[in-house]
Amino acid sequence: MVEAGSSLSIETLDLTTLADTDVLVRVHATSLCHTDLEAVRGDLRTPLPFVPGHEAAGIVEWVGRGVRSVSRGDHVVTSWNPHCNACFYCRRQQPVLCQPYRANAIRSFHFDGNPRLTWHERPVHQLMYSGTFAELCVVNEDCAIRVPSDIPFSRACLIGCGVMTGYGATTRVAKVDPGSTVTVIGCGAVGLSAVQGARMAGAARIIAVDRQSSRLEVAATLGATHWLGADEALEPLHLEITDGRGSDYVFEAAGNPAAFRASVNLVRPGGQVVWLGKLQADVEMSFRWGTLMGEKRIVRSSYGGAEPAQDFPALAQAYLDGELKLDEYVTSTITLNEVNMGLQRLEEGRDIRSVIEL
Ligand SMILES: [Zn+2]
Ligand SMILES: [Zn+2]
Repeated sequence: MVEAGSSLSIETLDLTTLADTDVLVRVHATSLCHTDLEAVRGDLRTPLPFVPGHEAAGIVEWVGRGVRSVSRGDHVVTSWNPHCNACFYCRRQQPVLCQPYRANAIRSFHFDGNPRLTWHERPVHQLMYSGTFAELCVVNEDCAIRVPSDIPFSRACLIGCGVMTGYGATTRVAKVDPGSTVTVIGCGAVGLSAVQGARMAGAARIIAVDRQSSRLEVAATLGATHWLGADEALEPLHLEITDGRGSDYVFEAAGNPAAFRASVNLVRPGGQVVWLGKLQADVEMSFRWGTLMGEKRIVRSSYGGAEPAQDFPALAQAYLDGELKLDEYVTSTITLNEVNMGLQRLEEGRDIRSVIEL
């Protein structure tokens, strides 16, 4: 992205000197996530010029001298959370809050703060330390995670953001109990992955909520046992399904005020709410106080408590074993040249995931 408010263009960039901890990945597939759209719209105030894209799979082309975890030829999925392993938060197993990660996040060149790419001698930013809408992408060693080579790139790429966030919310953040009742609001890639995480955790009832009936149909194929439209009948119908109590866990993955309000209304007293969607940072959000009462636990998660080194290969293997379904997410496959059309379709809510194949 070169100019604010313009569309994306394909440019030739130069690589600067790479560091010993860098990994150069040849991108084979990269999917369009809502955060890319926010960045391109200017909502995130990402400095220009920048390369969007942060959900990718590819093959390692080159590694720095200090890299131990991957080597040339490995198939990898990218993570967007490089972390130092030494700061206050990393020592508390909260890498998504890592101090240098967050300090550089706005400037977003590379994890060490220095650019790896230039365009007409201007330093180029990599969205979320990634920048995967490209043939090649430079990431920190801990962001190139080896996965089994038999998972297709067009499926593996989904794991790096949306799938990890929704799945991790159920397994790592809320730790869904077998036999429980789970409600998922919003059935995009993140929500559908929460549906699958709940199914894999052994939830007895999984209630999917969305405005689009086509998405509810997909949710049903992925494990939802009940489905409800996101309309005025939602709360009374939900109460009927949940024995008049509400759900043990509610995962919000729609990212709009009505969904956040519904999430606290649909959870039972003493239940757990996990917010995965987001609004623009300066938007004010209000709740009727009474809906927050009842010992409800509410937590916001950006990456589903991801531990990419363990979770990515396990999720890839779960796909290969037929346990995790990913084919249903890919509603369009496009070329890099069609990226603006893909973002337009995303804005209109026409895709679950559109995958750029390179
Ligand atoms: Zn994302
Ligand atoms: Zn750290």
